[in-house]
Amino acid sequence: MQAMTIHYTIVPADLSAHLFKVTVRVDKPDSKGQVCMLPAWIPGSYMLREFARHIVQIKARCNEKKVALTKLDKDSWQAAAVSGALTLEYLVYAWDLSVRGAHLDQTHGFYNGTSVFLRVAGQEMARHVVDIQKPSDPACQQWRVATSLPLWKAALFGFGTYAAENYDALIDHPVEMGEFALISFTAHGVPHDFVVTGRVPNCDLGRIARDLKKICATQIAFFEPKTKCAPMTRYVFMAFAVGDGYGGLEHRASTALICNRSDLPVKGNDETSEAYIGFLGLCSHEYFHTWNVKRIKPATFAKYDLQHENYTPLLWLFEGFTSYYDDLMLLRSGIIDEVTYLSLVSKTMNGVLRGDGRLKQSLAESSFDAWTKYYRQDENSPNAIVSYYTKGSLLALALDLTLRRETGGKKSLDDLMRLLWKSTGRDFYTLSLTGDQQGVTEASVEAMVEQISGVKMKSFFDRYVRGTADLPLGALYADFGVVLTDQADVKKPGLGAKVAPDIHDCKLAQVFTGRSAQVAGMSAGDVIVAIDGLRVTSKDAQTNLSRLLGRYSVGDSIEVHAFRRDELMRFKVKLQSDDVPVWGLKIRDEQKKKARSSAKLPRPGGVKAR
Ligand code: ZN
Repeated sequence: MQAMTIHYTIVPADLSAHLFKVTVRVDKPDSKGQVCMLPAWIPGSYMLREFARHIVQIKARCNEKKVALTKLDKDSWQAAAVSGALTLEYLVYAWDLSVRGAHLDQTHGFYNGTSVFLRVAGQEMARHVVDIQKPSDPACQQWRVATSLPLWKAALFGFGTYAAENYDALIDHPVEMGEFALISFTAHGVPHDFVVTGRVPNCDLGRIARDLKKICATQIAFFEPKTKCAPMTRYVFMAFAVGDGYGGLEHRASTALICNRSDLPVKGNDETSEAYIGFLGLCSHEYFHTWNVKRIKPATFAKYDLQHENYTPLLWLFEGFTSYYDDLMLLRSGIIDEVTYLSLVSKTMNGVLRGDGRLKQSLAESSFDAWTKYYRQDENSPNAIVSYYTKGSLLALALDLTLRRETGGKKSLDDLMRLLWKSTGRDFYTLSLTGDQQGVTEASVEAMVEQISGVKMKSFFDRYVRGTADLPLGALYADFGVVLTDQADVKKPGLGAKVAPDIHDCKLAQVFTGRSAQVAGMSAGDVIVAIDGLRVTSKDAQTNLSRLLGRYSVGDSIEVHAFRRDELMRFKVKLQSDDVPVWGLKIRDEQKKKARSSAKLPRPGGVKAR
């Protein structure tokens, strides 16, 4: 069969109306009438987003004649049968400032291919080329392009034509355009670019490049200790800095990030803020995905179905283990020390223990139901679900310590990751050209763990992956000289509820299972106005509430007045202790410390979803 090419053009057509104009030309359309569609979701973010709803206008033509289009479903169109090349032209509304969608205004343009490029059914394996055009507005003369899409007829960072080997590749290289700041570095010979869009006065790009270089080099060497060979020929970090935002999405040779500008370092200030460590942790997380989930994949992601949910019980492996390694790589690359590292681990532990949902939903279930539960959280989520990110990272820690213990320190989780890489990840995209790519199944990953440990691990997976048992981290850590201690001082009385931040009312955002407020009949959404007849002021409500409750002891009964919608209600609340977990991790003694750091003992990371 003759090699075919699908041709796209994309131009930021109307900055004020936030519209990209896109055309796709199909030289050999389906003789029965070509079907085209946009994906309903973007890989890496497990929720149906139905991107086609942002297509404002669409028309088709052949030889300058209009061709009828029939809408088949929410994502798809079918053109009437034609003889000759078929061209579709459409506008895409781009006003979603997230790493998952598309965004366009006079300051910049950003898009994921899933938001803008129609898939030509049946021709997904053709070469896909895209001409990225500069906006005609003279104010955009200085705009440049950042993307990991391979260049075809374009200069590096220039507008022009880029080419992808197939549709999956086309949508896996997001594009940023604008007057971004840029710094480049290499890691084991591979060029890396870091671009940041948004106003960040005096951003210390040099420091970011130095730190990222260490992280990237550490990860490349982690997966390929002998060859130090990276799976991509070039990598691009695309950050968008805002006043308040957080997020990241992984791709095969790049990542799109949203961060706070206050996370980024300032020239002349060498302090390492918690926020900057968080930012580097995010970069480290997305970079680790270059291997884990972009190439080592669950079986159901080996060939994506982009129109429907793709279920897998394994997100604890792809997100949880990545969360474990993100901060661990900061430690291994010398960016943070052990004390800082352990404080990040204990933060994750406390977060997991806070939610009663961990006793109801297993990691396997949390992974499988990500589409409707983790990604669509509501006020009851802490009572009903567990995060495959945070508990998944603790699982990785427990498995790592178990492997080290069982093998007398000879093997670790690192060996599992490298085995997964060698057996399924390294050749993934080569095999995908012939459709022979494979993914990981529950059975295959468990078999690999047993192969490495030399012991039966079924009960471990039954308890902690398919079951809801808490991970025995205190006992496991003790063997390695790290002590888990309860750092909560006196048990204070509390409602067992969380007040909504940024609302000028004492409104309950979440009410926890079996705790004082819920037992008394209070509900998320209730607005507390008084405790024992004393007003809870709406300004700084949380502090005001804590101050009022601080006058009581555990076991006391109080009267709470609250509005549910517009109805005033009265509750008799018996105060339980505000049982917030405050566990801390400490290195037991200097000797252990030495032994441990030479063995490079690992610990988990990241609290937020990314
Ligand atoms: Zn992730």
